[in-house]
Amino acid sequence: MFAVLGNWKSFGSNRCVDDFYQALTIHQHKSTQWGIAFPYPYCQAASTKRQGWVGAQNVSAFGEGAYTGEIHAAMLTDCGCQFALVGHSERRQYFNEPSSQLVDKINALHEAGLTAVYCIGETLEQRDAGQLMQVLQDQLRVLDGLSNPEQLWVAYEPVWAIGTGRAATPQDAQDAHTIIRNALKGSPFHHVPILYGGSVKPENAAALARETEVGGFLIGGASLKADSFSEIYLQFTQTKSS
Ligand code: PEP
Repeated sequence: MFAVLGNWKSFGSNRCVDDFYQALTIHQHKSTQWGIAFPYPYCQAASTKRQGWVGAQNVSAFGEGAYTGEIHAAMLTDCGCQFALVGHSERRQYFNEPSSQLVDKINALHEAGLTAVYCIGETLEQRDAGQLMQVLQDQLRVLDGLSNPEQLWVAYEPVWAIGTGRAATPQDAQDAHTIIRNALKGSPFHHVPILYGGSVKPENAAALARETEVGGFLIGGASLKADSFSEIYLQFTQTKSS
């Protein structure tokens, strides 16, 4: 299975959600799931559109209880979600999410029957210091002890490519995805899809999709507009089936 997912971050409104679904021109391809990770308040409304998957951008590491401000996994299921992002670099950077919580988040999603999209990636400083492999392997250690490969996808998102307009080259993406694939060998996750994220646009989608280890995309800015998201989905599915 491949996947093309969007991440609306802290953008959008009820109106934007309606407009988005109205303008979408996606014809679901059987090999490629699509979905959007919305801000929490819009998940329920998006799920009533019954098109693609609906996801959240985060989830509580805790269950039901006295945890003011938290949204737990069963609530996401209840609101019609099928997946959630875990460990997005903006959450690691600005909210200091510790690895111990990331494991709990993935476990919580799995218990609620949801797919976890586990995001990893290096900063520019780490890449320049030759630490790419080490950083990815360290971040993948979060998966040690977990099972449930049907409900986990990995997203490789180099931090320097997110929201910068500077995407990784197809070769950079292929190299990093190969490191990830090798690191997953021998684990229950050895065959999970590895999505690429970081300034994916209609213009670079086909070239990135041509790389064998690119199993989909996680798209920020370009997922806010139905036409660019639909076009990326089309480019991806056409490239993979050609
Ligand atoms: C993201 O938010 O995960 C992302 C990849 O953003 P962008 O596509 O805007 O770089």
